[in-house]
Amino acid sequence: MLTTLIYRSHICDNVSFSSLEMMVAAASLKNEQASVTGILLFNGKHFFQLLEGPEESVFQIYQAICSDRRHYNLVELMRDYAPARRFGKAGMELFDLREHDREEVLQTVLDKGTTRYQLTYNDRALQFFRTFMQATEQENYFEIPPAGTWEFIADGDAIAPETLAPGPESDCSFAFQPIVDPFAREVVSLEALLRTAAGESPQMWFAGLCGNEVYEADLRSKQTAFAMAGALNLNGRRLSVNLLPMTLVNIPGAVDTLLREIAANGLVPEQITVEFTESEVISRFDAFAGAVRQLKSAGISVAIDHFGAGFAGLLLLAQFQPDRIKINRELVADVHKSGPRQAIIQAIVKCCSSLEIAISAVGVEKAEEWMWLESAGITQFQGQLFASPCLGGISPIAWPEKKTEF
Ligand code: C2E
Ligand code: MN
Ligand code: MN
Repeated sequence: MLTTLIYRSHICDNVSFSSLEMMVAAASLKNEQASVTGILLFNGKHFFQLLEGPEESVFQIYQAICSDRRHYNLVELMRDYAPARRFGKAGMELFDLREHDREEVLQTVLDKGTTRYQLTYNDRALQFFRTFMQATEQENYFEIPPAGTWEFIADGDAIAPETLAPGPESDCSFAFQPIVDPFAREVVSLEALLRTAAGESPQMWFAGLCGNEVYEADLRSKQTAFAMAGALNLNGRRLSVNLLPMTLVNIPGAVDTLLREIAANGLVPEQITVEFTESEVISRFDAFAGAVRQLKSAGISVAIDHFGAGFAGLLLLAQFQPDRIKINRELVADVHKSGPRQAIIQAIVKCCSSLEIAISAVGVEKAEEWMWLESAGITQFQGQLFASPCLGGISPIAWPEKKTEF
């Protein structure tokens, strides 16, 4: 199937322009053999490339391009399918935008066109060309330093696993995971994640329960969460717990039960955040909104979890504004390499900043993901990169420090 792929990247400091021309000649030959055609634009600092050809060959060539050390910060902008090649004439052609007038380059690029309609009817590929040439998106080309720029040094403030016991009459336990602000070197909050007594996943603990039992068990488990957290000596830090929205709707007096358990363990409502998963909130919004009013009037904060994973996330914000949203791992994964993920996260950041809603990113595993998210204005993170969940304890936190040799 004929595939079009577009990416952009930054040129490395030590690469000369004359070596680029040689590179293009070599690439042209290689591409021709794989029947991949392409156009490469260069503006002195950034590359922009379009590759067209059979799907397999395009992906293979792109993979090789990704490991080429002459450029870095590759971001894939578009993957699409087309009935015919846009630029069938060129094996690979380079345009240096510093040497030509923009309109002239665009016209030359258009003249290379071999399709009858695509370039005439303003398709996305052509719009990407225009945007790159007009440099209107350049403030979003974040310079992410290589992952090796940072060392992650674990602090000594950990609490060993299973230091906190769930209490004899409890049938569940909790793992705790910090949400951190790495540059402020601050633990913003701890999230209590449900586990079976043996330390297995939340799904395992809920398995086998049916109907209202699920909600009763969900609420009951929070007693254990608050008891374990109370023993943790939170020192003014926040505590987050997860609840199914229907737990608050279906169990009479659920909010009062929560408030009682919070107080019984030496905690205050103002330090508690309840996290609800986006998709579950949407299905019975009106009943849920009533429960949220009760939480808020008791002083408890509300967060929307797995934001961006559901189908109506942004619409949800029109109906009710939580104190915080948590961006899901599915959007965070390899965000530094993905144009679409970057665009979505930037829209979420913009929206939440207009509404003064705090944001954290969940499931951060790579230094590059973290650095891109910091560049986009996110300051609070939860993920293995900093600290994994720890059953009945708190893992040491790996704080980033800039290596001195860089
Ligand atoms: P969540 O609230 O989004 O919790 C974060 C999940 O991401 C946790 O999975 C955590 O182990 C995982 N995680 C943390 N860092 C990373 C990372 O760097 N990479 C990856 N791939 N994953 C990471 P866990 O503990 O299995 O919990 C799954 C979900 O179960 C939670 O997602 C939450 O929605 C739900 N849950 C947890 N505790 C409760 C509870 O008490 N009640 C209810 N109703 N649901 C709960
Ligand atoms: Mn959560
Ligand atoms: Mn999750």
